[in-house]
Amino acid sequence: MTYGRVTAMWNDPIEKKPLFHWNPGSYTFSISSAGCNFKCPWCQNWEISQRSIEEVTSVELRPEDVVKYAKAYRAPSISYTYNEPLIWFEYTLDVMKIAKKEGIGNVVVTNGFINEEPLRELLPYLDAANVDVKAFNEETYRKVIKGRLDVVLNTIEAMADAGVHVETTYLVIPGLNDNLEEFKALVRWQLDTLGPDAPLHISRFYPQYKYTHVSPTPIEILEKLRQTAIDEGLNYVYLGNVPGHPGEHTYCPKCGRLIIERWGFSIVEWALTEQMECKYCGAKIAIRGKYWGSTGHGRLFV
Ligand SMILES: [Zn+2]
Repeated sequence: MTYGRVTAMWNDPIEKKPLFHWNPGSYTFSISSAGCNFKCPWCQNWEISQRSIEEVTSVELRPEDVVKYAKAYRAPSISYTYNEPLIWFEYTLDVMKIAKKEGIGNVVVTNGFINEEPLRELLPYLDAANVDVKAFNEETYRKVIKGRLDVVLNTIEAMADAGVHVETTYLVIPGLNDNLEEFKALVRWQLDTLGPDAPLHISRFYPQYKYTHVSPTPIEILEKLRQTAIDEGLNYVYLGNVPGHPGEHTYCPKCGRLIIERWGFSIVEWALTEQMECKYCGAKIAIRGKYWGSTGHGRLFV
């Protein structure tokens, strides 16, 4: 029913997905449909994710049209985002196949709730993903989110095994998943599965949808979780939804210097060589693709 029905199109900074370690500074042509296979009561995009396609405004686009738009905007990638892209699987896959042929990368921003068989069909065309881990607790997934954690973790593992660039996001909701032990368990799982270089985005919650009774995540909690993840051994841990916070920047894991300074979704300072090494100490920084910010490419409108 949702095939070819596009509810939003936008040329976004890749940092907005968020992906901080894949073609930094580039723009990504982003599309969405409607609906979701989860029922998160705090969803930030509930106006499209918790509605059916008949209830929202959409335009019909053939898969080749999406690729044409991406090329017109000079975006080096297409992102399937805003609502859950894996639920319009057939369309996502068709767009991805054409994009790949045209040399355009494919990015999903997903909850990771998909069976392994269709996932394997998608993986050859997928370049990068941001997967939400919404809690590290099977009960929260089943009772509140109406999904399953084990499936999500399998997805992340399968993506990484297939060579897809994976970053994870953890939205911290006071009283629901801000427990230090639960968070530590996630960090340890990520270290074991993806290694120390996979970025983790710790995101600030704002009251939304059915969760207007919960206050925004206190900054001190976000900072504490970020420090915990670093102490446990993750090299790149970021704070999201806190524009201007030092937790948005990239620091060299070897010398500790600030090497990528960001403000929200923009890169304002870049101190890496073309080989993605720290300018100060030469340490290799785990970034895939190239830095697009200096060329302005991918930012031009036609
Ligand atoms: Zn360094």
